[in-house]
Amino acid sequence: MAQAAEERDNSFDALVIGAGAGGMAAAARLNKAGFRTLLVEARDRVGGRASTVEQDGFLVNTGALIIETGGENGRLFADVGVSMGTRVPSQPLALRVGKRDVPLLSGVIGTLGMPLIALAGLAARRFIRLRPKPGESLGRKLEGRGPYLRGLSRNITSAVFAAEPSDVDAAVVFDYFTKPKALDTFGLHPDGSIGPWRALADRFEHTGGALWLNSPVTRLTFDSDGRVNGAVVQRNGEEMEISTRVVVSNAGPVATVNLCGDEHLPAGYAQWVRSQSAPSALITVNFASEQLLTRATGVVFFGPTRRLAYAAHLTATCPEMAPPGWYLYAGTSTPHPAVGAFDVDTEVGLLKADLTEKFPGFESARILSVQVCAGEEWPAQRAIAGRDLPQTTPIANLFNVGDGAREWGSGGQSGCVQSARLVVERIARELPRHDRLSSSSD
Ligand SMILES: Cc1cc2nc3c(=O)[nH]c(=O)nc-3n(C[C@H](O)[C@H](O)[C@H](O)COP(=O)(O)OP(=O)(O)OC[C@H]3O[C@@H](n4cnc5c(N)ncnc54)[C@H](O)[C@@H]3O)c2cc1C
Repeated sequence: MAQAAEERDNSFDALVIGAGAGGMAAAARLNKAGFRTLLVEARDRVGGRASTVEQDGFLVNTGALIIETGGENGRLFADVGVSMGTRVPSQPLALRVGKRDVPLLSGVIGTLGMPLIALAGLAARRFIRLRPKPGESLGRKLEGRGPYLRGLSRNITSAVFAAEPSDVDAAVVFDYFTKPKALDTFGLHPDGSIGPWRALADRFEHTGGALWLNSPVTRLTFDSDGRVNGAVVQRNGEEMEISTRVVVSNAGPVATVNLCGDEHLPAGYAQWVRSQSAPSALITVNFASEQLLTRATGVVFFGPTRRLAYAAHLTATCPEMAPPGWYLYAGTSTPHPAVGAFDVDTEVGLLKADLTEKFPGFESARILSVQVCAGEEWPAQRAIAGRDLPQTTPIANLFNVGDGAREWGSGGQSGCVQSARLVVERIARELPRHDRLSSSSD
């Protein structure tokens, strides 16, 4: 009897590895669709690179600062029936022109510019010659253009793709900005970026999903047909085996092949995945002051700078993120190069020089942290937009979600959430209901 109960406790229809945006979305959707789902996360919190840690009373984000509340994110939270709990800043996105912050989602640009950009996209979808040819980088397209346009473009590709114009295909930039509702509404959560993901995790657990924090998966196991049939998880200091019918990995394509072991994959596949990997980098200075250092109330993009691409005033919308009397800010840059090795000290110095210039009073601000998101384990983006790997793998019941496996022309957390929706729709088609262990809700 006890053995049967233990087997059931460790048997799942679906295992999701990693509770980042893609993993959370996959787990929530699988659970909602009636799969007995286990979500395992190596860290002590959900959200991955869209999470938050507490530091001396300040809520400091681990990566993402704002979340798109419509599009794929809005659809996920509506489908699962969870409120995101976000607040929309009075001016969510702005462009600093001289000393003025020009709103991008309202005013002249919001009411005329954005619809015109969307119209250009509509026209380009009908008349293909209007769209930049795939294969040519934005940097190449901008050759010979003035320094303002090139500087602004660098900061926009940094903010949206964590890349320099020479890294990204002009067609992917065009498709991103001209898709319907490209720049939808953005919000901030009073608990920081972790807020929406924690709300989703709570609903997941309350509706039958199992969430194990501090529990890294160390390897996947396979049956004699070469399908994945389980995983080894480190939990409470012990290794334990769980069985599953399908695995969704949010650990990134390279980590996924490492969890498989090359010997379980078709010859050459693991090497191919590793050779495709080109994670990009972002550097963020989180700082606080008892003085108001800017009138911005959301995220501000900058024209040409040394490095600073965008900055956010978080307490303008969510004062709960700092102790009373304090203002909390973050300023972010893409180093040069954005992919591969760079000189961290030089790059941090350039970012701080920009912050000194753009935020009078920065020199006396309290620096809470300097976060360098780079490399395979904690990148800004696992893949440059347009160069993501497929969500499917050569193992029929093993999938990737997250920012190494997004659709063309998507980005941010919503691109990860979309990858999860597509994977779960596929799993639901391929693993019929009567084959599953249980139906929790739906
Ligand atoms: C500095 C910065 C600023 C950004 N700003 C924004 C923004 O403002 N808005 C926006 O929408 N996007 C932003 N992004 C992008 C966005 O944060 C990421 O694209 C997104 O959060 C990545 O989600 P993911 O699904 O790939 O999962 P990840 O965040 O990569 O999470 C994966 C999770 O898997 C866990 N894991 C890995 N291996 C294992 C294992 N073996 N076992 C168990 N768990 C494992 C990890 O601990 C992690 O929690 C920003 C990114 C950065 C770095």
